[in-house]
Amino acid sequence: GGRMVNPGQLPWAAALELRRRLREAGCPDWDWEGPWLVEMVTGRQPRFDDTPLTAGQAAELEELARNREKRIPLQYLSGKWDFLTVTLRVGKGVLCPRSDTELLCQEGAALIQRIPEPQVLDLCAGTGCVGIGIKSLVPGAQVTCLEKSPQALEYLKENCSAYGVAWKEGDLFGYEKELPAQSLDLITANPPYLTKEEMAQLQPEVAWEPAMALDGGEDGLVFYRYLAARYGDCLKPGGWMALEIGWEQGEAVA
Ligand code: GLN
Repeated sequence: GGRMVNPGQLPWAAALELRRRLREAGCPDWDWEGPWLVEMVTGRQPRFDDTPLTAGQAAELEELARNREKRIPLQYLSGKWDFLTVTLRVGKGVLCPRSDTELLCQEGAALIQRIPEPQVLDLCAGTGCVGIGIKSLVPGAQVTCLEKSPQALEYLKENCSAYGVAWKEGDLFGYEKELPAQSLDLITANPPYLTKEEMAQLQPEVAWEPAMALDGGEDGLVFYRYLAARYGDCLKPGGWMALEIGWEQGEAVA
């Protein structure tokens, strides 16, 4: 291996070569990521493009390829990511928006659809994908996103301002004391939920993401225990909590 992206190379040839390199690096989605990286640089789908790569494009593409070979998440290399119908800023220091989490938005939105101006709080917001996603599905919702990490907050502020969602800096552990009783229609969260065992064997891409967004304590349930014990009083009668959970945590969290 080790052939580099060269100036003058045709985009499709470069895409094929990158596919091979990403497959060798163990990237699970090498087949579409190869052409994707080329498109990130040229702005065109390589199979419809017969313009040879410029020296600048070749150098940029080679750097992207090397970073992806190191298994840096594609979302971090792109700097933005589509989620439901919105596009969010993302990068090192914040959890990548994932398509699994779109389901949480859809379920959460369904719960508040008939309420005029429903009050929504999203905890552990990260990029803000959950709160912003819900706002996109229920435009009348008054959504506030809470985030503790200063690095994640930079992305959150930018994304929330782009989509008309409020944000606050704060820690889930204690923030409930600032909330009036029975004030919310919906609380959402995609909290850190990986177990100690899972934290010790992260997929390479996930290992680049902040541990703070992943580590849910010994059994992964630390955040859910606190939510269940302390946040119920903040809900209006008939209000809901909608939470993302790990694949084996359904019974314990319920
Ligand atoms: N979905 C992430 C993973 O499985 C975990 C995100 C989280 O802890 N909230 O790696």
